Amino acid sequence: MADNTNVLVVEDEPAIVELVSYSLREAGWDIRSADTAQGAWESISRGKPDLVLLDWMLPDQSGLRLLARLRADRDFQDIPVIMLTAKSMEEDKIAGLNNGADDYVTKPFSPRELLARSRALLRRKSPHLAEAPLRAGAVTLDPNSCTVAVEGQQIDIGNAEYKLLKFLMAHRERVFSRAQLLDKVWGDHAVIEERTVDVHVLRLRKALKSADGLIRTVRSVGYMLSEK
Ligand code: CA
Repeated sequence: MADNTNVLVVEDEPAIVELVSYSLREAGWDIRSADTAQGAWESISRGKPDLVLLDWMLPDQSGLRLLARLRADRDFQDIPVIMLTAKSMEEDKIAGLNNGADDYVTKPFSPRELLARSRALLRRKSPHLAEAPLRAGAVTLDPNSCTVAVEGQQIDIGNAEYKLLKFLMAHRERVFSRAQLLDKVWGDHAVIEERTVDVHVLRLRKALKSADGLIRTVRSVGYMLSEK
């Protein structure tokens, strides 16, 4: 089962990084960022992302150079790349596409448009990421629309609870400690305490209504999703 879609944002303007990260996290994706081409290369070398959003103008070298480097690398040539560009010049778009960009978005762009383009690209290039809905008991989670239904009725669910549920559904019948859930669901940068996990589990159970029994407490260990 695929983990969360992992996106690298290569951009040196903090406000844009923040906007993009916020919007894509809402979709349940994991976001990391780099503000130079070199930093991006190091980040990609540490772990291959599912998608790169690449700014054209970076402080150390152009995004186009980084793109060319990726496309020349056997391990990274297939990473889907969307260029973020302030340039609306037709020749620049053509240069980007000729150098292997899969798509481009011209600044200023709406986060919604960027998300839609990203989803479309991932569906096209990485169909394994356009995941099939996950089902457990009466619960259906659709990773593409980021919605959850109980007995066919869509429920209201917060972003944190959605991510927690998705993780547990993808790893059912396995017990995770609070520390593991913090790490797997919220990532390394989470500065939240273990008891916060309990709060989210409580909210998740509430959101799941009649299906709340799927989320089991395993005393002195942690939590699991079980259909048994
Ligand atoms: Ca820039």
